[in-house]
Formats: sequence, C-alpha cells, structure tokens
Amino acid sequence: MSLRAAIYTRISNDSEGRELGVARQEKDCRALAEREGMQVVEVYSDNDISASTNSRTPRPGYLRMLDDAEAGRLDVVIAYSTSRLTRKVREQEDLIELHEQAGTRFLTVAAGWLDLATAAGRLNARVLGSVDAGEAERTAELARRKQQELAESGRHNGPRPFGWNIEGKGVDQRLTVNEAEAAVLRECVQRVLAGEGLWKIANDLNTRGIPTSTGKPWATQVLRRVLLRDRNYGMRKHQPLGKDGKPKGSPMLYRGQWEPIVDAETHDRVVALLTDPARKSNNRGTAPKYLLTSVAYCGECGGHVVGTNEFTYRLQSGKTRVYPHAYKCPRAGCMKVQRRMADVDDHVSRVVVGLLARDGVRLLGGDPVAAESARTRIAELEAKLAVAADRFASGEWTDDMVSRITAQVRPQLQTERDRLRAAQPADDSLQQFAGAGVADAWAAADVETRKRIIRLLRMRITIHPVGPGNGRAYDPASVTIAPEKA
Ligand SMILES: [Zn+2]
Repeated sequence: MSLRAAIYTRISNDSEGRELGVARQEKDCRALAEREGMQVVEVYSDNDISASTNSRTPRPGYLRMLDDAEAGRLDVVIAYSTSRLTRKVREQEDLIELHEQAGTRFLTVAAGWLDLATAAGRLNARVLGSVDAGEAERTAELARRKQQELAESGRHNGPRPFGWNIEGKGVDQRLTVNEAEAAVLRECVQRVLAGEGLWKIANDLNTRGIPTSTGKPWATQVLRRVLLRDRNYGMRKHQPLGKDGKPKGSPMLYRGQWEPIVDAETHDRVVALLTDPARKSNNRGTAPKYLLTSVAYCGECGGHVVGTNEFTYRLQSGKTRVYPHAYKCPRAGCMKVQRRMADVDDHVSRVVVGLLARDGVRLLGGDPVAAESARTRIAELEAKLAVAADRFASGEWTDDMVSRITAQVRPQLQTERDRLRAAQPADDSLQQFAGAGVADAWAAADVETRKRIIRLLRMRITIHPVGPGNGRAYDPASVTIAPEKA
C-alpha cells in the first residue's frame, strides 16, 4: 500500500512566495509524490497575502492539515519548501510534535525529507525554521516601514476617495478636490449637523443619481464611514502595527497632501454626532424638529436656515466643548449665518405671543368683533348660573327656581358658544391661541403647531450675519421679523 500524502501550498508576499504561485507549488509537489510512489489524498492551501503577511490569522488549510494528520488520515505532508510549511519557529515545534505523536513525515521539493526522528535532524529543521521566520519578519518589517513613510509624508494610499480625484501614478500620485463631490460632501455634513438621518440623506443622494466613488448607490453605513474620515479635514490617519500585525498604540494623524473639504471644527462636530451612542445610525423619520428650520431665512443668501443639534464634544486634552442648538445657513458657498437657537426662538416667541394676544383672532383668520361680543354674552350667562347656584346653596332659592333659570340660560349659553366658535379661526386647534391665554397655549404647544402659527401669521423671519466671533451676546436687531410681502 502506498503512503497517503497531503500537499500543502501557500502563497505569501515574501521573496519565495512572490515567485511561486500555488499552481506551480502543487505541480512540483505532485511530481515529487509520483516519483516517491505516493498517493495524493488531499491538497491544502492558504492565502497569506489576503490575510496579511505577518498576521496571526490562523491558516485554515494548515490547521485542517494538522488535524487530519493527527487523526491518522495522512502519512506524509509534501510542501515546496519548509518556508511554505511554517512561518514561525513555534510552528516548527508543532510539526516536531506531530511527527512524535502521529508519525507524520515531511517532504519538500527544495530540501527532500525533513528528518525529525533524530536530535540532529530536529536541530536542522529548527534552524531552517528560524531562517524562514526571520525572512517573514523582515518582509513584514519592510511593509510596515513603507506604510509609516507613506503616512508621515501625508500621501494617499488606496482607492479614490469620495470628494477627490487621484492624479498621477505611483510616487507622484496625489489627490485633488473633485468640486462636484466636495459640494455633496459639505451638503451631507450640514444635513447631518441639522439632525437629518443618514438613511434619509443616502436615499436622497440615490434619488438624485449621485453615486459613491466606486459608482455604487449609497448605503447608510457607507455614508457614515465617508463622513467620519479624517481625510475630509485634510488629515491622514495611520494605525501603526506591531510585529504580530495587530494595531499597536493609538492611530496617528499626519497632515495630508490634499486640500481639506470641511474645516476641523465642523468635522469634530460630525464625529461627535455620528459616534454618539445615543444616536441610532439610521434614525429614519425621527429628525428633530426645530421651530425655525425651513421657516427663517438666511440674511445673506435668502435661503432657509436649518436647526442643528446640541452636543458635547470631548477634546483629546480631556476638556469638553459644548455646542448649543443653533440655526445655520446650510448652503455651500454661503454658510454666513449662525445663531444660538435658544436666543432666536425666545425672541420670535415673544413677538408671536404679543401679536396673538393683541390681534390673534383676526390674524388666525377669525372675526374678532363677533368673537368679543359672544365672549361677553357667555360671561354674563355664566354669571347668572353662578348666582343661581349661590342662592340655592344659601337656601334663598328653591330647587324649582334654579331649574327654571338653568333651563332658560343653558340654550342661550350654547348659542353664544356656537357664535364664538364660528368667529374663531377656522382651525379648531388654533382657538386657544387667540385671546388671553395665548402665552400659556404657546408655551404648551408642540413645534409643529408653533410652526403652523408662524406661517399663518405670515411672518418673515430673517437671521442676518453678524461677522466673526464666538460667544457674543445675542443682538435682537440681528434677527428681523417683518410681515411677509404678499
Ligand atoms: Zn446663506
């Protein structure tokens, strides 16, 4: 009976691996098995290139081969060379152990039988193994150094990123801003800061036929990754790797060789927002609603402003920076206007409540004269009923007298209430905003209702630019509230 042989092949990025394809290794091993009169029962193969040259990623083919040998299904393992078989000194010990326990023998095209039966043979195998391991380490070291150099020089490495074009080749390769995509990127940034869900933005881009840099439709997670890239504000991120191929230390940031598309502060805010654990990544349909989003205008370009979320950003120094809710002009090329939301909302609310208290019924579309007359009549009739109740309570009036009065007053009261309702703004839900209780009603109203009232009042709210400088006091003159021109 012929010996049962397994062939093990491995492609890798070391000097031997670069020259030897898997097919070539297998062909040579098969020829050897035939010369030795062995029967090839299985071919195991691993790809160390896709798994990173110096990684600890287990080699599935190798591990399966060890298992099969241990189970006694193999007599001989054939490989092109010892360096195909093992990558590390530790692995050499696995083979020695396998030989001792299962009697497995090893044969290579390059060096013949591996003698693991004698002390001298094992020493030889270990020396060969360390030489192989040394070569693998040097290769990995070179690759790491190359990556580090690329990062430090701020050069781009990899496929074309959204927002830039790649110009030149090899060492001359550089990124230049792709203006059309950069505008889309800035728009997405502003929309995210305005609280819009990634899912909605991705959908919108797809509807508008704007693809990713690889020409595919946007998915929420892809958009998220693109928005989180340090590249966007001109930085090159590099994660140094240790000898084991695993990340070692913190990622480093180097100044990239390309023009940024967003500024650092804006990028910080996007990162804080998108990495906030409280945020659902695809918060579809739950965009926060702000009073003046799509209501107030930018004083510079005349477009609508959007409201942005409040958040706390932790700086690397450990300090925190709080960005309050704000209204901003989101248009690329403008973005000249930004104001603290609480200040503007407060200002607008005071003006609205004042207007409604004075003239709410008419402003909201009712008949103020009829409403006032009905309100007076209702007060009189309610007073009559109250007097009747008092007199009954004090024993002055009998049950019968009270019944007659209420039977008389109640229908009148109903009539007046109907008249009042008819004189009110057409929309029932807005009645509470026309009259004395308007301040409370406004305070209790939700944002949707408030927005509706502002629109009904035909107010044109404009937030004007105030020039540079943070933390300045709110200047009410910088926000104008005027009747909308018909
Ligand atoms: Zn603007």
